[in-house]
Amino acid sequence: MNKTAFALTSTTALILVMACQPKTKTKTEYVTVEVPKKDKVYEFTRESSGDPVEVQVYDPNCNDQRGLGLRSALIAEALIGVDMVRTSTTIEENIWENAKEKSITRQTYEMDYISQGRPVALCRDASTIPVNTQEGAAISMKSDADTAHALYQAVKNKGSLTLPTLEPIYLNAAIKVKMIDRSVNADDVAREDTEYQTDNAVFMGGTHPTLISYPQSKQSQQLKLLGGEPLWAIKGVFQHEFGHFIFSTMMNEGGASFLSYHEHAAAHPDLHLFQTPASTLARIASQPTQAASFGEFVKSQDFFIGSLNEGFADMWAYYSLKQPADMFDISCFAKNRNLVSPTFYNGISKSWDETLWNKTFSTKLSEELQEKPTSPIEACSQPFFSDIHIIGAAMAHTADAVFAAAVPTNPTQDSSVLKAEMALAWLKSIKASNEFDDLGGKASLSRIMNTAVGTSISYLKGADKTALCNVVTSKFPVLVKRWKDAKTDNEDVSGVVSFCSL
Ligand SMILES: [Zn+2]
Repeated sequence: MNKTAFALTSTTALILVMACQPKTKTKTEYVTVEVPKKDKVYEFTRESSGDPVEVQVYDPNCNDQRGLGLRSALIAEALIGVDMVRTSTTIEENIWENAKEKSITRQTYEMDYISQGRPVALCRDASTIPVNTQEGAAISMKSDADTAHALYQAVKNKGSLTLPTLEPIYLNAAIKVKMIDRSVNADDVAREDTEYQTDNAVFMGGTHPTLISYPQSKQSQQLKLLGGEPLWAIKGVFQHEFGHFIFSTMMNEGGASFLSYHEHAAAHPDLHLFQTPASTLARIASQPTQAASFGEFVKSQDFFIGSLNEGFADMWAYYSLKQPADMFDISCFAKNRNLVSPTFYNGISKSWDETLWNKTFSTKLSEELQEKPTSPIEACSQPFFSDIHIIGAAMAHTADAVFAAAVPTNPTQDSSVLKAEMALAWLKSIKASNEFDDLGGKASLSRIMNTAVGTSISYLKGADKTALCNVVTSKFPVLVKRWKDAKTDNEDVSGVVSFCSL
């Protein structure tokens, strides 16, 4: 009898926790899987793509005996030179069901270290170290994390909101991750795709919260995608990732909220990468099992909590940078992720009107992928409404608009700090809402945005409400209709309809 060996792991959650521990080796179990058809051994068709640009160590002789580390009250440890292989396997439903051994797992995910890296050491003035080196990446990430942290502390020190203390965080600069994706589908086609994780950044939670940067791809360097730079060199990327750290800390304070969302995020470690490449969405769409579960996710409450996480992180970047008009206004992110832009790259409005509502709830990923871009920059710029970053961008743009309307005309304090406080108050009220579970996608989106308006109402403190109510009418038309119709229980939790006499 022929058998095929797959490497399996005990649980995804365990691996994720392990993956966040820069100095811990993952344990791998090997289990023999009996495939359903006798006399059949799967031969994987192998393809590889996406080579990374090599990132040099600037000062190879500098080490922690001689140099300065990047540790601080905020940074627990900063590492460079980490090299990993990540392998995932997906077995289609019927292949799996026909398998005789019930100990097998349909989906596996494992991480193995090639190199565990070493702490960053600096033997010269940090400002003289080029940004496109391993040390330069770590310095840039730390600087951005410091800015984002300073804003959090400024709000916390004001004392008007009770906020949790942030734990120290780990940095992992220019990490090399080779991803091997194996799948066996219902037609017995076995594929193995290999690519490097590039052009991205991520925050990983767990016992060792970690900010991670990935190298630029050779393709992006040649075609000048994403501004032609590695993401750690782009202002706002790690303020955004730090925003996820704040979100995670606040949502887990005093017990985790939105458990099904957390479970989904733990099972899909690529969910909150800085950007979702179109190739990732295409891969999901090409595998029926993944496509079906993704289709469910896009309609669920979890998708909108995930979008809120992304929207909040973009807002945190924007306020940490003191509200620049050109944030992320570079190739591939232009308009979409620029919080100030009222439209996406294709001209669709970020306001909650009929068009955006239909895109959000009626467009299928497979239909979105059918658009044929004319150039690589077109291809990476098109917004996908099945992507939490895009729905999050609409949330960020519209929430910021109502917050702006609650800022006093002659503010006595920095409006970035005041809006950051409102954004945190917004998260607190969402976390405190005990009627949020199992609402479904539409009501969840409605509640999330209604709470943003409610937050700005509470910060208006009796001042003229005309501007705020005008923003509600212009940026939230479909939601206003729902709140007035009171279609489902208690969507207008903040009493926006009566406050603005809608
Ligand atoms: Zn993000």
